[in-house]
Amino acid sequence: MADLYVDGEWREPVAGGRREIRCPADGRLAATVSEGTRPDAEAAIAAARRAFDTGPWPRTPERERGQLLLRTADIVERDAKEFARAESLDTGKRLVESEYDIADVVSCFRHYGGIGGTDAGRVIDTGRDDAVSRVVYEPVGVCGLITPWNYPLLQASWKVAPALLAGNTIVLKPSELTPSTSILLMRALAEAGLPAGVANLVLGAGPEVGAPLSEDPGVDMVSFTGGLETGKRVMATAAAGVKKVALELGGKNPNVVFADADFETAVDFALTAVFLHSGQVCSAGARLIVEDSLHDRFVDEVVRRARQIRLGGPFDAEAETGALISAGHLAKVEAYVAAGLAEGAVLRCGGERPDDPALADGHYYPPTVLDECTQDMRVVHEESFGPVLTVERFSGDEDDAVRIANDTEYGLAGAVWTQDGGKAQRVARRLRHGTVWINDYHPYVPQAEWGGFGHSGVGRELGPSGLDEYREPKHIWQNIQPRPQHWFRG
Ligand code: NDP
Repeated sequence: MADLYVDGEWREPVAGGRREIRCPADGRLAATVSEGTRPDAEAAIAAARRAFDTGPWPRTPERERGQLLLRTADIVERDAKEFARAESLDTGKRLVESEYDIADVVSCFRHYGGIGGTDAGRVIDTGRDDAVSRVVYEPVGVCGLITPWNYPLLQASWKVAPALLAGNTIVLKPSELTPSTSILLMRALAEAGLPAGVANLVLGAGPEVGAPLSEDPGVDMVSFTGGLETGKRVMATAAAGVKKVALELGGKNPNVVFADADFETAVDFALTAVFLHSGQVCSAGARLIVEDSLHDRFVDEVVRRARQIRLGGPFDAEAETGALISAGHLAKVEAYVAAGLAEGAVLRCGGERPDDPALADGHYYPPTVLDECTQDMRVVHEESFGPVLTVERFSGDEDDAVRIANDTEYGLAGAVWTQDGGKAQRVARRLRHGTVWINDYHPYVPQAEWGGFGHSGVGRELGPSGLDEYREPKHIWQNIQPRPQHWFRG
């Protein structure tokens, strides 16, 4: 099958490459897909450029563009089982989690589809009767959308839906590890009636088909979600062409628990915060910051429950979390745990690959708790992006909690647990993170903003600001009584 989608056609790569996608849970062949190279990316960019410069899409009324997104949502919902299965095979995540993700994809398309045509800009009072003035929104142009492997289609939909609603044309480049649902999304967009060249898909390695999206002068904007180092490279390259950039680069997110928190709920969410999807979540609550007086009882209970978490493949109904994405990522997570132990952390559970023969063909790592951690440890500061919880203590003083929680170069998300409403609000305001949950962890709604402070990124996804990333406000002034002004007498 030809899997590159360029100018409304399914194409084989110029160099004819193929790639095998293996399920991280058991190594089974999940898919064989086209593997593009640089000329394929360039062809996709050229198609998107033509579609933007000469095609109907940027001038199609926004309401109609929204209706196309709503039709896309219906198609994804109709085929949700196929999408979820493909997502699970590529990522190794439990089928039920993929089903939630696909439902979120549908909600995302419905959200943006539903607001199509509802914001026509604004009219400005010029204070004069001879001129009218208004602000309208224009699409940015050709958008290069680069997405990661942890929530493949959800991350793609957070970019594709607002970019298309705003009238842009796009080139989507998913992670080389998880391309399958992006292929299905292109089919859905085509079925919904998207004109040729408006959405293009390139598959292949980042340096081959991702890098051109920040290098090529035919691209106006790059939106990237992934690791900090790649994000810095994307931003630096895009700067040379003065491209617009949006980045979501993860986090090292604090989960602050005061002694007056509801114990059972806070423990329960401390586990979900960090071990959901085996910690491969940009907003994972990987840093537990717990009040000294509660520390022993709280951590004992977290460890007791963490030990019982069952690992398994996507279709194992008993499994509670799955494998890591790749052997390389597993080795990286292990190295972070080793570094933490070398720097004085105390291993409370996990820390070794499971010896269950049923898991031998997958990249599994157990829920791991490192106690007595301090802010100077690498495992506390850098993203392990695995099922690794570090535990730090604070005195109980709000200033102390905030100081420790904010001591990270990232700033994506965090949580505070307390039954004191005033304290919760005070601490939430002081946390320098893009999303703060009070007595909760992980929920989001597409109507709200998503994005980080500090090195967690640039710009926002979802919500009104998410849409604003993909459109430019333009001021239109019209003199409605044009006549000579005679500024100069001659
Ligand atoms: P990367 O940042 O390398 O990958 C993210 C995306 O960027 C992928 O599509 C990748 O393609 C692409 N890419 C890679 N190199 C380039 C390039 N030179 N130009 C343009 N695009 C490129 O993430 P990794 O998969 O290596 O993960 C590294 C770390 O990043 C993780 O351990 C984790 O800490 C963090 N991460 C954060 C995520 C988040 O949600 N913020 C998501 C995933 C990872 P390809 O897959 O083909 O290499």
